[in-house]
Amino acid sequence: MTKYEAVIGLETHIQLNTTSKIFCVCKADSWNDPPNTNICPVCTGLPGVLPVLNQRVVEKALLLAVAMHAEIQPESYFDRKNYFYPDLPKGYQITQYDRPIALGGWLDVPVPASPAGGAYIRRVGIAKLHMEEDAGKTRNAGHLRQIDFNRCGVPLIEMVTNPDLRTAAEAAQYLTRLRQLLRWIGVSEADMEKGHLRCDANVSIRPAGSQVLNPKTEIKNVNAIDAVREAIEKEFERQVREVEAGHRIEAWTLDWDEEAQVLRKMRSKETEADYRYFREPDLLPVCLTQAQIDAAAQEMPERPLDRRARFMETYQLPEYDAEILTAERQLSDFFEAAATAYGDEPKKVSNWMMNEVLRMLNEQGLTAGELRLQPAHLAEIIQLVDDGAVNAATGKALLAKVQQSGRSPAQVVADEGLARVSDDSAIRAVVEAVLSESPKEVESYRAGKVTLIGWFVGQVMRRMGGKADPALARSILEELLR
Ligand code: ZN
Ligand code: MN
Repeated sequence: MTKYEAVIGLETHIQLNTTSKIFCVCKADSWNDPPNTNICPVCTGLPGVLPVLNQRVVEKALLLAVAMHAEIQPESYFDRKNYFYPDLPKGYQITQYDRPIALGGWLDVPVPASPAGGAYIRRVGIAKLHMEEDAGKTRNAGHLRQIDFNRCGVPLIEMVTNPDLRTAAEAAQYLTRLRQLLRWIGVSEADMEKGHLRCDANVSIRPAGSQVLNPKTEIKNVNAIDAVREAIEKEFERQVREVEAGHRIEAWTLDWDEEAQVLRKMRSKETEADYRYFREPDLLPVCLTQAQIDAAAQEMPERPLDRRARFMETYQLPEYDAEILTAERQLSDFFEAAATAYGDEPKKVSNWMMNEVLRMLNEQGLTAGELRLQPAHLAEIIQLVDDGAVNAATGKALLAKVQQSGRSPAQVVADEGLARVSDDSAIRAVVEAVLSESPKEVESYRAGKVTLIGWFVGQVMRRMGGKADPALARSILEELLR
């Protein structure tokens, strides 16, 4: 039997997180606004209005182009893409067609090991990257169609990959890494649920190892990474069944029905000619100076995968730790600042980050950038535990108190009397009280049930609010029980 491989290309639409829309001053983010309250004559396409390009859109497009290693074009143009749809009031979308702002580039995507084989890196080539405006939103409500124009004119970057992906899992990894990168460089919130990152997948199949490109189908409207994986897998299997049955694959557009988890045929695909593209006469070409291109390159931070590799190298972190700590830029900045402040044993800082700090972020629904706890505070707390000034349990509680109050760890320790008690007489008094109140346990211990020592230590610790030096408490207990 022939073995088939999938040939997958992804077209993503990325909503930029600018304050205003691409060609007017309406707010770009309408997520919390009632329908049709965030519109103006420009974005609803009334006669006689003129679009004005938002400079922030160009800056963010440039930064993304740099992040993707794309070739920035010193001169690019806007075009009109004509089609009729109720949520497109102008009857055309302003986009970039044959002269986009950037061409080429790539994203390296680590693909984890699976039952099918070991881990590897898939380099996904980018064909082009361009700026465009979003259309409105159509909602079917019974027999009514309701149209919300708030989203008209929201700035998008459309980015098209080469057909370089070979499995649904690779496609899912590509989106995961793209989302990480978009947030990392701060061009998009990349929240798929809110439509900030939308994905269409082009899928065809061929005998494994062959170089031909067969007719492809396009899967539309998938807005979760798991759904992309699911839809591509289903479409791959369908095409294999069709080809095995001697049928031809036709260039359909398929709509992913999330509820039913099935693909439905929407229409035979339009060709480019159907859109009757022509230059947008109301906008000038986008001409970039070398200074603007250089500024974008300057602004580009270390990429997440580069930072992950550096954390493994410089701090000798296991890949697992480095992956988690670089999932988000502010988190990785936090770790690096704390590790620097602490000085040695970065793995210890990593453990505190992964166990205590991440738990706190999850519980409180915060990001690392929103913490009141500062990296220097974390380093100080670990140092206090190292020095025996507080015990480990108190150290963990300190994190929460610093976060809650914004005071420094030393201040909290002083204010709340959290310093570990290693004063022999203070502990001795508590031990004596515990022993005199537990005659039965004392008797069992003396009769040979020495494992009770743990219970006694627990009693002493509890009474002293966890501040006693447990080793000292234990030795005083053993002494008095003898
Ligand atoms: Zn507007
Ligand atoms: Mn588009």
